Amino acid sequence: MFDFFSQDTFRQSLHGYSIRMVACLLSLATAMSAFSFSLPASAEEEKTSDTGFFLDTVITITLYGDTDSTAMDGCFDLLEEYEQMLSRTIEGSDVWNINHSAGEATEVSAETASLIETALYYSELSDGAFDITITPLVELWDIDGKSGTVYESDAESAAAGSEADNSTDSEEDSDLNAGSDSSLIPSDAEIEEALSHVDYTKVSLDGTMVTLLDTDAEIDLGGIAKGYIADRLEEYLLSQGIESALINLGGNVQTVGTKPDGSSWKIGIQKPFGQTSDIIAVVECMGESVVTSGTYERYFEVNGTIYHHILDPETGYPADNGLTSVSILADSSTECDALSTTSFLLGLEDGMELIESLDGVEALFITEDETMYRSSGFPED
Ligand code: ADP
Ligand code: MG
Repeated sequence: MFDFFSQDTFRQSLHGYSIRMVACLLSLATAMSAFSFSLPASAEEEKTSDTGFFLDTVITITLYGDTDSTAMDGCFDLLEEYEQMLSRTIEGSDVWNINHSAGEATEVSAETASLIETALYYSELSDGAFDITITPLVELWDIDGKSGTVYESDAESAAAGSEADNSTDSEEDSDLNAGSDSSLIPSDAEIEEALSHVDYTKVSLDGTMVTLLDTDAEIDLGGIAKGYIADRLEEYLLSQGIESALINLGGNVQTVGTKPDGSSWKIGIQKPFGQTSDIIAVVECMGESVVTSGTYERYFEVNGTIYHHILDPETGYPADNGLTSVSILADSSTECDALSTTSFLLGLEDGMELIESLDGVEALFITEDETMYRSSGFPED
C-alpha cells in the first residue's frame, strides 16, 4: 500500500494557534475522515506544512522548496478574508448580509457576486439540483450539528458522541414510544415549509447587487466556496513564485505545479466509509484539482439509514440514489466542487451524462456496493 505522509515526516505547525481551533479539529476528526488525499513527494524534499480551521473545514497547505513564511502567511490571510466574506454564519459577511436583507438589494464584493453567478450557472445546468438557496433545508436537517449521531429505535438508548444527541434524549424517548424514527428527522410539514423557500430563480444578481425575491430565502455557498478559495490560493501561490505545493481544504485537493522533481502529484481517493489509508483510486495531477462529495463526509444514522449533507431540492431529503461518492478531476477547483455536489445530486446516469458533455472534466462515481464508474477520460490506476 501507499506510504502516506505522516505528521512526523515533515515540519508541521498549527496555524491560527487558538485553543478553540484545536478543539474544533479534534471534535471534527470523525466528520472529516473522508475525501481525497495527496500521496507524498519524496521524504527528503524540503517542505513546510501548516494547518488551520476555516469554513468548518480542516485546511492544510504544504509548500515545497526553500520558502520563507511570506507565502504561507499570505495563504492563511486569504483564508481568513474569504471566510469573512463567504461564511453563512459570520455576521457581516456578504452571505450573511444577503440573508438578512429582508428583500432589499445588498451590495457585495465583486468576488462574491461572481461566485454567486457561477453557482447559478450550475443550478441552470442541473435543472435546479444544485441550488444555493438550500439554506432552510440545511438549517432544518442540521446535519453538521448531528453529525456522528447513531440512533437505533430498538436500542436501550441512542448511541451517541455528539452534543445534539444528548440534548434530544427526552424527545427521542417519547418519539421512540410513539414508534417514530426519532426527532432527528424533520417532519413532512417542516420539510414542505423549508422547500417552499428553496428556489434559485429567486436570487437576482445585478452587477454587485444581490436581491432575494423571496424574503424567507437564504443562500449557502457551502457546495462551491471551498473550490473557489482553492483556486484563489493556487493563483496566489503561483504569483509568489511557488512552483510546487498542495492545498487540501477538507479533502478538496488543489495541486500547484508539479512535485519538486517535475513529476506529477498522486492524489489518493479514499474508499467511502473506509480508513483514510484505504485508497480506492489514485489520480495523477499537475496543477489540477480533485474534489470529492460523499455521503460519509457529514452524516447521522437512524436505524441503519444514513442522513447526509447533500440535500435534494426535489424531495427535501438527503440525496438517496445509490451513490456514496463522486470525485471530480478538472483544472478549476471551483468547477470540481460545484460538479461533485451537482453530479452527486443528479445520480450516476444523469451525472455521468453531464460530465461527459463537459470539456476537461472527469469523474469517478462510487455506488453503495462499492462499484466504481469512471467517465471516459478518468484515469485508470
Ligand atoms: P463538502 O463541502 O462537505 O465537501 P459538498 O461540496 O458536496 O461537500 O457540499 C455540501 C454542502 O453544500 C452542504 O454542506 C451544504 O452547505 C451545501 N448543499 C447541500 N445541498 C445542496 C444543494 N442541493 N445545492 C447546493 N448546495 C448544497
Ligand atoms: Mg461541492
